Amino acid sequence: MNRQDCLDCDAADPLAGLRQQFALPADVIYLDGNSLGARPAAALARAQDVVAREWGMDLIRSWNTAGWFDLPKRLGDRLGKLIGAAPGEVVVNDTTSLNLFKALAAALHMQEHGAGTGRRVIVTERSNFPTDIYMAEGLASWLARGYEVRLVDSVDQIPDAIDADCAVLMLTHVNYRTGYQHDMAALTAHAHAQGALVIWDLAHSAGAVPVDLHAAGADLAVGCTYKYLNGGPGAPAFIWVPQRHQAAFTQPLSGWWGHANPFAMAPHFVPTEGIGRALCGTQPIVSLTLVECGLEIFEQTDMHAIRAKSLALTDLFIELVEARCASHPLGLVTPRAHALRGSQVSFTHPHGYAVMQALIARGVIGDYREPAIMRFGFTPLYTSFAEVWDAVEILRQILDDKAYDLAARRTAVT
Ligand SMILES: *Cc1c(COP(=O)(O)O)cnc(C)c1O
Repeated sequence: MNRQDCLDCDAADPLAGLRQQFALPADVIYLDGNSLGARPAAALARAQDVVAREWGMDLIRSWNTAGWFDLPKRLGDRLGKLIGAAPGEVVVNDTTSLNLFKALAAALHMQEHGAGTGRRVIVTERSNFPTDIYMAEGLASWLARGYEVRLVDSVDQIPDAIDADCAVLMLTHVNYRTGYQHDMAALTAHAHAQGALVIWDLAHSAGAVPVDLHAAGADLAVGCTYKYLNGGPGAPAFIWVPQRHQAAFTQPLSGWWGHANPFAMAPHFVPTEGIGRALCGTQPIVSLTLVECGLEIFEQTDMHAIRAKSLALTDLFIELVEARCASHPLGLVTPRAHALRGSQVSFTHPHGYAVMQALIARGVIGDYREPAIMRFGFTPLYTSFAEVWDAVEILRQILDDKAYDLAARRTAVT
């Protein structure tokens, strides 16, 4: 494999044309779309229009005339196609942390008022993204009814951790640090057989790997739009409640956007029918509208084409790093098996933080996660095979020349 082979892969790539729809700086190889997706080119004009016309000229009328009020549902229906949701099952709103709180509270409530009364354990992984664990711990202690968060240390211990006390299995489908992808259908089926409900966090799955929530039999799901979906920094997240659970779904953040008739201004809360009951309050509309620009690009292709290129890019990166940086102490953390891999590749290096800072200084943008992990995200909508080659070449030079600063100061965001 040489650089020309990579250029040939780009020439044959059916997704290559989509890169033009992103605004990326010319001197950057962007391998961090798993943390903050690149900007869809259309987002600038869209933001201009929302601020200048919808807000500036049409003012409050835009809640109706520009469809601001329905935006969480409209976007939810479009996003839902990427994750195997039916129309009317997804809303885009709030943050992933908040949506997880709602989903977990609703699942515990369903168990308490259904067949799972008395079950007091929430099972998740110690390696889960911390906010997911923190939100579960916060809810469990707030409820003060003996709920416990059980942290599992390895994937093969998950099945046995789901016992007769387990109310909810709450997992992140693709691990943010390692890129490990769970078998959603198998774990869901196993948890159901034990009487537990299952919540999936799709933060590193939506737009990254094919997901079919209905086929997997999942109960509830949440996820992020500012990572692979390219919604923009801090763009609102999403929550999925399948129709079969909507009647039983009640969540404690009972704000007026989830009310059956918000403009009746009634003194008591009555949840609306359907997915609207997962909403809480007024959304950041400027940010929310930009989510549409990312989804429009996904609608020009499909998750299977994206997955095929994602696996080709991650395979190539692993192969090139292992061949060209073989004399350096790099350790592959991400599974080699395709079925177990998301759309990122993580390598450990004893000086991972300093090496990543050197890469970023040379325009190869990935990121760093404790302990010692350099994370590289691959986003088939805009990453090319030649960029993979060039990124590995720059990594090789940095390692060969030891051109990294061991005294590099930690920035607030790593
Ligand atoms: C990125 C990510 C989050 C982010 O949560 P916010 O509320 O948006 O800060 C949560 N969970 C997982 C698994 C993530 O990867």
